[in-house]
Amino acid sequence: MSSTHTFSVTGNLVDILNKHIYGATLWIEDGHIKRIEANSEPVNPGLPYIMPGFIDSHVHIESSMLVPSEFARLAVLHGTIGTISDPHEIANVCGVAGVEFMIENGKQTPFHFFFGAPSCVPATIFETAGAEVNEKEVDDLLARPEIYYLSEMMNFPGVLYNDPSVMAKIQSAQKHNKPVDGHAPGLRGDAAKKYIAAGISTDHECFTIEEALEKLAYGMHILIREGSAAKNFEALYPLIDSHTSHIMLCSDDKHPDSLAAGHINTICARAVAKGLDVFNVLSAACINPVKHYKLPVGILNPGDPANFIMVKDLIHFEVLRTYISGELVAENGITKIKSVPTNVINNFNCEKIEPAALAVPENEYPNKNGLIPVIEALDGQLIRKQRLV
Ligand SMILES: [Zn+2]
Repeated sequence: MSSTHTFSVTGNLVDILNKHIYGATLWIEDGHIKRIEANSEPVNPGLPYIMPGFIDSHVHIESSMLVPSEFARLAVLHGTIGTISDPHEIANVCGVAGVEFMIENGKQTPFHFFFGAPSCVPATIFETAGAEVNEKEVDDLLARPEIYYLSEMMNFPGVLYNDPSVMAKIQSAQKHNKPVDGHAPGLRGDAAKKYIAAGISTDHECFTIEEALEKLAYGMHILIREGSAAKNFEALYPLIDSHTSHIMLCSDDKHPDSLAAGHINTICARAVAKGLDVFNVLSAACINPVKHYKLPVGILNPGDPANFIMVKDLIHFEVLRTYISGELVAENGITKIKSVPTNVINNFNCEKIEPAALAVPENEYPNKNGLIPVIEALDGQLIRKQRLV
């Protein structure tokens, strides 16, 4: 994954931590930043801006319909160098073998996948899942260096009522000194306090600023989610300036068309267009995930792995180049990552569904008006409605 040669890049270096931009040359050797030389010239807007790469702090790779290596080929075009990825969708179908597949496929490509141990497989007891991941398997996964955290604890009633299996998984994460991600839409007050006190440190489900402010007050980190399925940026973006150190950016789900169009870079452009401080925006997008999840990607200091991007400006974040461990993986909209051969570990065959198979037998759903309840999907939202037709 690392290149062995020495090279340099010159531009305007964005020092996010010190809120400072200056002309500099970066020397890269063996995949690491060897040294940074400040130039005497002031910032030159004609030169690219050099900055740490973007990190999606919560995304299910499976939602892109792509295997990790193909996801990476697209993500690097937008300056993304890593993802915090919960493989619970494939685990719901294939169990731990699915998690293994994601890790192994991801390892073959120059991109930083940080996988979690799925905490809730199956997602609910009402689900007919293909597999179950039990406490022992979660503990075994958390012991592995490739697993960085316990992923979204969706079973918040289980936390609130001290369900032994749920608590065992949280304790495993704590034993391995790895963070626990949350998922608690709408949880407020004492219930939210108890959920957070159990050791759950992030939430990406807030859809109102009041809910996010309450969770922040109890010490939680808030991931502002703007993806293909749920969009919370408009409701939550002021937090980037008001609570910078506790904010990250994520997509949760990226369908292939929206991944092709943009990623965390487009959220940053929208945030800057709102008038937010660019350094605060970039802290949320590039620095905070590295600190919270203790990611070995560096933050553009001498000695760090050479994970960085070059962008045209700090307004649109058009990505000119993406480097991962010193390797140029994307340049001017062209990915340099090769496709890797993929083992198919699962497939399904289904019969063609004819309308007759969906017909509701007479009197099956007796309703005084003779109507049948159906689930109505709402475009752009996660919630659904019941309709009588
Ligand atoms: Zn999620």
